[in-house]
Amino acid sequence: MTDSLEQRYQTLCQRLDRAAEAADRPRPRLLAVSKKHSAAAIRRLYALGQREFGESYWQEAEAKMAELQDLDIVWHFIGPLQSNKTRPVAEHFHWVQSVEREKIARRLSEQRPSQLPPLQVCIQVNIDRESSKSGAAPEQVLPLARAIIDLPGLSLAGLMCLPARREDPAAQREAFHRLAQLRAELASDGLGCPILSMGMSDDLEAAIAEGSDLVRVGTALFGPRQKTVT
Ligand SMILES: *Cc1c(COP(=O)(O)O)cnc(C)c1O
Repeated sequence: MTDSLEQRYQTLCQRLDRAAEAADRPRPRLLAVSKKHSAAAIRRLYALGQREFGESYWQEAEAKMAELQDLDIVWHFIGPLQSNKTRPVAEHFHWVQSVEREKIARRLSEQRPSQLPPLQVCIQVNIDRESSKSGAAPEQVLPLARAIIDLPGLSLAGLMCLPARREDPAAQREAFHRLAQLRAELASDGLGCPILSMGMSDDLEAAIAEGSDLVRVGTALFGPRQKTVT
């Protein structure tokens, strides 16, 4: 890909507009997934108006956050989270999209500094029940949501999924539809109406057709990920 970051951003924004129009839905928010991409690339996208960025590894994010302190970025943690690694995430991020069990939620809540607003969290749902993927099983979502609602340091903000890779758009939609149904169950249980974080570079049209509120896009924006980030 020889396109510049600026061109890819513009192309992606057009793709989001077209998909939203085709689905007769509002255009979702864009989370720019900057894992394995440089702080310089984040700064260039910020200059174009992008504000929300997603990182998957604390060590990598820490260096970039330090370098980009002067910018008003909303940082989302979207990677796997072990219980001994929750503290810096609770202290430095605005959102954590990868909460999959109560123990992690409790730690994040306890470790969230009291002078900061509650951490916005999404429950990551293993929507296709893949053994290779993290996330709560669909039937665990309701009890986990009830637990999160009671934690003072957290605010239940959404449901997130990473479905199995499928080529067929109808099959892609079917998985996203199941996440939308889970949200409807939460809403009818009085747990609010959290956002749906779904859709990435290869399936965002299907996600938007099923009501995505936030798409998480890396490759279509930044190009292929680098092995090491400087
Ligand atoms: C890496 C990643 C993405 C972005 O994927 P692309 O296919 O590069 O757009 C989105 N969500 C999560 C949770 C990721 O880890």
